[in-house]
Amino acid sequence: MTVESLFASKINAAAPRSAILRIAIVGRGFSGMMSAIALMKTVRTPFHLQLFDPNSAVSGGQALSSARASTILNSRVRDLSVALGDADDFNDWLCSNAEFRAAVPAAIPGFRQIFVPRELFSDYVYQRFSEALAARKDITVQVTPEPVGSIRRGQANRFLLETATPTNRLFDTVILATGYGLSEREPEAEDHSPVRAQRLVARPHTVLLGSGIRVVDQLLQLRDGGYTGQITIVSKHGFLPQSHTPNSADPVFPAEELPQSLPDIVRFIRTACRQAEEQGRSWQSVMNGLRKHARSLWRSLPAHQKRQFNRHLRAIYDSHRNRLPEAMYLRLKQELASGNTGLRCGTAGRRGLSGIFFTPAGSNVEEVIYAERVFDCRCRRPDLAMPLIQSLITSGLAAPDELSLGLAVNERGEPCLEDGSTVNGLFAIGPLGLGSLPDIDLVPEIVSQAYAAANRIGQQLYPQSRAI
Ligand SMILES: Cc1cc2nc3c(=O)[nH]c(=O)nc-3n(C[C@H](O)[C@H](O)[C@H](O)COP(=O)(O)OP(=O)(O)OC[C@H]3O[C@@H](n4cnc5c(N)ncnc54)[C@H](O)[C@@H]3O)c2cc1C
Repeated sequence: MTVESLFASKINAAAPRSAILRIAIVGRGFSGMMSAIALMKTVRTPFHLQLFDPNSAVSGGQALSSARASTILNSRVRDLSVALGDADDFNDWLCSNAEFRAAVPAAIPGFRQIFVPRELFSDYVYQRFSEALAARKDITVQVTPEPVGSIRRGQANRFLLETATPTNRLFDTVILATGYGLSEREPEAEDHSPVRAQRLVARPHTVLLGSGIRVVDQLLQLRDGGYTGQITIVSKHGFLPQSHTPNSADPVFPAEELPQSLPDIVRFIRTACRQAEEQGRSWQSVMNGLRKHARSLWRSLPAHQKRQFNRHLRAIYDSHRNRLPEAMYLRLKQELASGNTGLRCGTAGRRGLSGIFFTPAGSNVEEVIYAERVFDCRCRRPDLAMPLIQSLITSGLAAPDELSLGLAVNERGEPCLEDGSTVNGLFAIGPLGLGSLPDIDLVPEIVSQAYAAANRIGQQLYPQSRAI
């Protein structure tokens, strides 16, 4: 589904009048679409909105982009609302969908706790975008299917966006929603394996690189498609996603003040999980509770402890926060127990025609894993080397965070410069801020940030505007 096909009648292909205030959104993944919805629902003054992205379809983000449309999301319905302050909005949308209600009668009266296919979430996001657009006769939306190569200051302190087509690229406000960057093509296989001639494959073999949701999705997709060969998951640390609870895991967290140092914090959380389980709650409830403290906790850590966390704990944290619906988790466990799927910890190297080079954890001897197919299901980081981001950094419009995981941003997504100031009119929404704001790659956090940015834009550009 494309924005163009759905909203062709509202989309103004011609260049807009120059008098109107102009807002650009760079990137049309979930963060870009969410920012557009938040702007249309929050900023009351007329504006022209231009969306840049060479990809014509909204994807599920890099965590989900290669998954099948029917893949079950790993977040419950109650956590996927795009309406600020109305956690039931997605549930209400599902309840109003007669076809869905007929197909899932067991969940009546509500669907808050269930997991649904990502295509349904995508339809919901598009419909809310469409409704927000239909409600605004005073704005124009233009879709430009091009990448933005750079952003710098133009005339009258506006932002000048460089794209292939040289039309009016001056904007008053720019929202960066570039997530993990432009998707790359898979690298061509090269084969330097000295042992290629000795290849002896007893049965078909596929290698999956990574350890997150995408690996599990790819594994189950292969099995559902009838693949019976051997599968090897190659993961750096070996932490695969944990399971959601069958029912709601409402957040709990100890009331005591959190300790200061990373090892003490880890001990504190472990104890909290154990105590929750002793009291008949789940560790998942504690992890859900931890998310509410994650930002202040992260901010309080000195840089060396943040680095330590990234090196030693991030993989464990991710496997406990990005959880699988129970049914998927059980299938994963069965796969591993059957021996048909194996897990190897270590570092994947370059591809060869007959498989992939691999260095097992704790060793420095490279070996070859022979396989007919290698799927790269690893999660990428935001791409700071991308020319667009580099142009912002070199022109002093943004700075990397202290670990260079992304751009330094505040809760509203405003890039923070080294002297602590922010640049009026520039925002980075979503995973670009992962080094500053934990969990900013997840729907609830992206939704809050997009509305906070839209509110700020309303105040900055149009002081008389008020939120709807
Ligand atoms: C269908 C769907 C399912 C989801 N499921 C879940 C879930 O279960 N749980 C959860 O919490 N979250 C979920 N999410 C949210 C997901 O986590 C986020 O969408 C993702 O992590 C980040 O999205 P993004 O838009 O910031 O980045 P991306 O998806 O990476 O999108 C970035 C976009 O920017 C474009 N771009 C990059 N560079 C440029 C450039 N220079 N010029 C122009 N364009 C550029 C890319 O082409 C890309 O389309 C889902 C989202 C969707 C839409």
